Amino acid sequence: MTNEEVLAAYERTGGILKGHFLLTSGRHSDTYMQSAKLFVHPEEAEKIVAALAEKLAAYKPDVIVSPAVGGIILGYELARQMKAVNYFAERENGEMTLRRGFTLEKGSRVIVAEDVVTTGGSVKEVIALCKSLGAEVVACASVVDRSNGKVEFDVPYVPLLSMEVTSWEAENCPLCKAGAPAPYKPGSRGVK
Ligand SMILES: [Zn+2]
Repeated sequence: MTNEEVLAAYERTGGILKGHFLLTSGRHSDTYMQSAKLFVHPEEAEKIVAALAEKLAAYKPDVIVSPAVGGIILGYELARQMKAVNYFAERENGEMTLRRGFTLEKGSRVIVAEDVVTTGGSVKEVIALCKSLGAEVVACASVVDRSNGKVEFDVPYVPLLSMEVTSWEAENCPLCKAGAPAPYKPGSRGVK
């Protein structure tokens, strides 16, 4: 699947938002990739994830682990297609943890999968978590790499789509300077 085809799927499903956004990293941006909109459509998700699964085939994972909430559907569909099992990690007192009786066996081959990576903070935390539990993290992956190849992990990183989406530190944000309404995080409490 080409970059254009992946972008076209996001566009078709309304997954590319324009506005003034607060990213998880704290940076501001005028573009937001809302994978949840794409994953509304299972047949679109199946095609996108098939392309990612193909790029990941050589890693032969036993388990796909994703950070909640954004990575959950991707992780599930990736695990289904790669015949692995699927866990999601979630924050408890600010720390990424495996709850709900999810356990990793020592030496199990893990791919950490996230929908969109900007700074990779959540993915790095989940990689560290899986390693601390004795698993072998063989790779990490995302549908979109918004850093255009700038983000670095201590395991191989496989994005489906690499793109450059401009973002700014809050104090340097041109939208804030132009007096735009406060930035928001799509999907967070109280906003649509
Ligand atoms: Zn701003």
